[in-house]
Amino acid sequence: VIPHLQETLQELYTTLLPNRDGRIADYIPELSRANPDHFGIAVTEVSGKTFKTGDTEVPFTLQSVSKPFVYALALKELGAEAVHKMVGTEPTGMAFNSIIRLEEGSDKPHNPMINAGAIAVTDLLKTPKDKSRLDHVLEYFSDYAGTKLHLDEKTYLSERLSGHKNRAIAHLLRQYNRVGEDFEASLDLYFQHCSIVIDTAHLSQMAATLANGGIHPTTLKRVIDARHVKDVLSLMFTCGMYDSSGEWAYAVGIPAKSGVSGALMAVVPGKMGIATFSPLLNRQGHSVRGSLAIRALSEKFGLSVF
Ligand code: GLN
Repeated sequence: VIPHLQETLQELYTTLLPNRDGRIADYIPELSRANPDHFGIAVTEVSGKTFKTGDTEVPFTLQSVSKPFVYALALKELGAEAVHKMVGTEPTGMAFNSIIRLEEGSDKPHNPMINAGAIAVTDLLKTPKDKSRLDHVLEYFSDYAGTKLHLDEKTYLSERLSGHKNRAIAHLLRQYNRVGEDFEASLDLYFQHCSIVIDTAHLSQMAATLANGGIHPTTLKRVIDARHVKDVLSLMFTCGMYDSSGEWAYAVGIPAKSGVSGALMAVVPGKMGIATFSPLLNRQGHSVRGSLAIRALSEKFGLSVF
């Protein structure tokens, strides 16, 4: 679809690799072990063709990139109306783990892309008869990635031990009846889906499934209904980059979701899924090199949805 894509990715990698701005997330101790030199960029077109450069096979955890997919699973299981009784569709203008809006606002989490909303959505997920909720989530995510995904137990346990703020959010949600009695188990599941392992090449396939209207570009499996793709992408667009969602929409113009591992995924509807990985983060928790790479791709190829 796009001429000279491979050369462009290579150029971006070479230009951006020396950039050492940003910091590795250390509030989850296991994440602080990341290598600041790692940098990968991958694009999967809706045709199924993948272009990649750099460390695209280095494993990392999804972190908040899991949120749009968990939201998608809840939409599939319960429908949009039921899901949005528990979570809103408004950006907060606050950090991903902010607790303030929950207290001062409607006591309903603003959207599924921030921690409060994602914990509430995780609590809605059904328990299948024949498997655990975690296995169910892993299988669902695997369909997007086109490969079998697994959990990084160390990162999960590390966040479980240190995630006091998320625990506080979960308790506040319980106080407001936005999660059920078994919310501790849902919080665990939240920590687990944040700790699912991926690499840049496969993350670009997850993004490409959303770009392709919900059908994985090479397995051709329908993973999510087209109408739910619309729900997921519109909330990624308005809320996926937290308190820089407006700036991102203005400058880059495509739905995106970041994770504090350094993961970043962007979706160009009808065209391609883009993924980057580089653990040095800016103040909002987005990968510095990744954001610059995706912004440059958008500018060069005119990818803004407008
Ligand atoms: N697991 C992380 C947390 O809850 C995810 C945050 C993120 O990636 N922005 O803090």
